[in-house]
Amino acid sequence: MSIRRKLTILMLFLSLVPTLIVGVLAYISINSELTSKTVDQLNSTASKQEQKINALIQNKREEVSKLTNRFDLQTALSNYINTNGQWGGDDIYSILFNRKVANSDLQSITLVNLEGKVVATTTSGNSVTHLDPKEYSIADNKEGSLTVEKGQQDGIAKIRVVSRVSVNKKPAGYLSVMFRADDIIAAVQDYTGLGSTGETIVAAQDSNGAVALFPLRFDTDAALSRNLNSLSLFDKTNGVYKDAIDYRDKQVMISTKTLASTDWKLATKIDMDEALASIVQLRNTIALVVIASSVVIAGIILYVTRLFTRPILQIAQASQKIGYGNFSTRVSVKNHDEIGELAGSINAMGANLSVLVSNIESQRHRLEAILNSTTDSILAIDKNGLIVLANNAGTKLTGYSEETLAGRHIDEVFKFTRDLQPYSINYDVTGVNTYPGLQYQNADGTTHYVKVIVAKITEVSEQSAAQVIVTIHDETKSRELENMKLDFVSMAAHELRTPLAAIRGYLELMTYKNGSAVSDGAADYLQQALRSASELGGLISNLLSVSRIERGALTFNPQKLDLGQEIKQAIEDVSVDESGKSNNVSVKFEGLDQGCFVQADQLALHEVLNNLINNAIKYNKKDGQVIITLSQNGDNYRVSIKDSGIGIPRQALGNLFTKFYRVRGGLNSGSTGTGLGLFIAKSIIERHKGSIYASSQEGVGSEFTFELPMFDKCLAEDSNQQARRERGWTTQNIAR
Ligand code: ADP
Repeated sequence: MSIRRKLTILMLFLSLVPTLIVGVLAYISINSELTSKTVDQLNSTASKQEQKINALIQNKREEVSKLTNRFDLQTALSNYINTNGQWGGDDIYSILFNRKVANSDLQSITLVNLEGKVVATTTSGNSVTHLDPKEYSIADNKEGSLTVEKGQQDGIAKIRVVSRVSVNKKPAGYLSVMFRADDIIAAVQDYTGLGSTGETIVAAQDSNGAVALFPLRFDTDAALSRNLNSLSLFDKTNGVYKDAIDYRDKQVMISTKTLASTDWKLATKIDMDEALASIVQLRNTIALVVIASSVVIAGIILYVTRLFTRPILQIAQASQKIGYGNFSTRVSVKNHDEIGELAGSINAMGANLSVLVSNIESQRHRLEAILNSTTDSILAIDKNGLIVLANNAGTKLTGYSEETLAGRHIDEVFKFTRDLQPYSINYDVTGVNTYPGLQYQNADGTTHYVKVIVAKITEVSEQSAAQVIVTIHDETKSRELENMKLDFVSMAAHELRTPLAAIRGYLELMTYKNGSAVSDGAADYLQQALRSASELGGLISNLLSVSRIERGALTFNPQKLDLGQEIKQAIEDVSVDESGKSNNVSVKFEGLDQGCFVQADQLALHEVLNNLINNAIKYNKKDGQVIITLSQNGDNYRVSIKDSGIGIPRQALGNLFTKFYRVRGGLNSGSTGTGLGLFIAKSIIERHKGSIYASSQEGVGSEFTFELPMFDKCLAEDSNQQARRERGWTTQNIAR
């Protein structure tokens, strides 16, 4: 969500919520104020009507009371009783009639005796001589009964008051007085200040609850009297009830009062809708005000928010553009506040970034130029082996463009071989791994001789694209040169061999056939010339071997050989005399001497043995000794040639098997040699799946050992023990 939206929502919330709260509170307080005022008004109207009705009833009772207490009426009644109805009746009638005439409210007055027989009545045409007892019975605890009834002929509601008449304090009869109820009806219908739905009901209790005594305002509705019970008038104590539902199913506020000296209930009620009608208008007004003010506030907020956020948006857009590399973008906010400061910082950042990026760019160009000017192919790969970068030499070597290379797996592009066999490189390295002597055939079919160096980039994060640098050094050209050199050496050696053989032949002829013909001195010279020719032959043969090794043209004729026999033969070859010495050095053979078969080329094996034994003699001391031991080491046969010679300095041991290496200085100085013998021996042994190594102690002696896989198990089982003992006699012992 954008900051503008957030700010707008926040400000709307902060400003509109209080407006709404104030509106709702105002509505609630006005509502309750109005309700309480209506309650007061209802109460006071109800009280006034109660007083009026009580006063009217009181008047009627007093009227009856006055009549019963009249002396002339009591005297006439006494006469009537004493004369058994002969006298007094007319007097009574005259008194009652005069009274009726004097009071227009009176409808009729009837006097009955204690038995219920009518003594006199103002009701014209009334033929009833006996009245129903209920019409004149007086409740025990009341002065006189008060009932409401409808006129049989006119249907008008009337009030009947019955009172006892006593003569000389003795009950003598009952006076039943019928009043018009107009005044009470008028009082009930006076709804002063209660509006159009206000009304007062006077009800009596019947077995179902309430029954209306006096006409209701809505008395045209036939259902009203039936539904009057919904008001539960007689269940309620005197008071005001706001949640009543009236007989028209309207929510009403109702005030109930019990009328004194009657069992009537007076209910004054008003519709809640009408009572609170003004509040509805007020509510609408408040809502209107709240809505109008909200709209205005929202408008102001939107404007203000826009005013505040516009510069922030400008800054955000500018930073986004700068982020996309458009460093010339500037923010044009001129505010002299924090936002203005921020805009200034963004502008400065853009300028600085521009300088920084152009620096980086120029550095990148420089690096690219360096990378592309190297003749080695350099490729960067990610942790999954996918190529992420390749320099010009890389694209040239592979024949692909940089775009084609990018994203491809390095194994898919570079399929290396070694000795014509597929060779896979481990690119998941921790340090630097070098793979020399590989061939690579590129897209157009050209074979390249390469050296591959795989190096993990140090201090690189896991997320970085380039994780490993692969450098491919193309050795094809140097290899071609080397081959040319080897070809030349090979050719020269071949060419030298023929004349040398002729020279040696003639020298031998001269020495042996015509030996007696030459003088002693000349014979010595001839011997010397023969030795030199022989050395030269050795050198030529070594050079040829090396050239074959280097060009991979060394071929073997492997056969099953008895190693012990071959060693003995080699010892003989070094011209050991009868006392087992050669050049005053004794040569001894120990250990297993037969049945140790290996698979090897006989000539090559002899070349190795001759070389090692010759060296042991050549670099020995005067009267020194050479011990050759054959033993078993696991699945290998081990041959060690140990001498008591001049030894080899520790630092020279690592280079002994390198081409042309010779130990210089020290005790070795003066000896002749080419430094090729050990190199050839190592190449031959390794081609036979064996190993060769040396140990030495300067001034004490050296031990050269080689091992070859056994052709078969050694026959001499019991010689195992001896072999183990021989194994104990190891290079380490000598080295120490
Ligand atoms: P060359 O004997 O023709 O010099 P080699 O390859 O046979 O060449 O030997 C390399 C060098 O190793 C020798 O020049 C010599 O210095 C040293 N070396 C070889 N064998 C022995 C040995 N048994 N004792 C001491 N030095 C030796």
